Amino acid sequence: MYGGVEKINLKHIDEISKKNNSFLEVKTIIDENFQDYKFASMFIAFPKCNFKCFKELNLDISGCQNFKTLKIKNKIILIKYVFERYIKNPITKAIVFGGLEPFLSFNELYECILYFRTNGCEDDFVIYTGYYKHEIKQEILKLKKFKNIIVKFGRFIPNLSSKFDEVLGVNLVSSNQYAEMI
Ligand code: SF4
Repeated sequence: MYGGVEKINLKHIDEISKKNNSFLEVKTIIDENFQDYKFASMFIAFPKCNFKCFKELNLDISGCQNFKTLKIKNKIILIKYVFERYIKNPITKAIVFGGLEPFLSFNELYECILYFRTNGCEDDFVIYTGYYKHEIKQEILKLKKFKNIIVKFGRFIPNLSSKFDEVLGVNLVSSNQYAEMI
């Protein structure tokens, strides 16, 4: 869908949350990542994007820095294994959800945070999205029930300068982007 924002289906999310053996569909998981947040983090790459940042500007989507990630085969991993993998690593202090576009996998994203929280982990979750806050109001409302959730908002816009973000403690690639503890 060129130029548009894909509608995210929130239906039945609470029913899904009650089921056991919930899983994530991911491109990859990096156990120790140091470039996206001020603390060492587990990085989870989600598998979908509508490439809005490029389509809205009538640019070729191959310009997206995450375009090559599309070629990586999707993997299915139980959330409880993600949790065990994270909790056993004494180095990491946060979990980063990144690109492609995590909010296009919102049910799984929510389910994962819920699992961590109900199993006693209150560590920071950092979600990198290309959406602006007003485009994902309902999802942000759902996430507000959790503590320590940080969202990096905003499209990647080619040719804008990078800027340091105080909340994340790292540089963001486009000066229109910003992060906020929701
Ligand atoms: S949201 Fe991320 S993956 Fe999607 S087009 Fe923008 S920069 Fe690329």
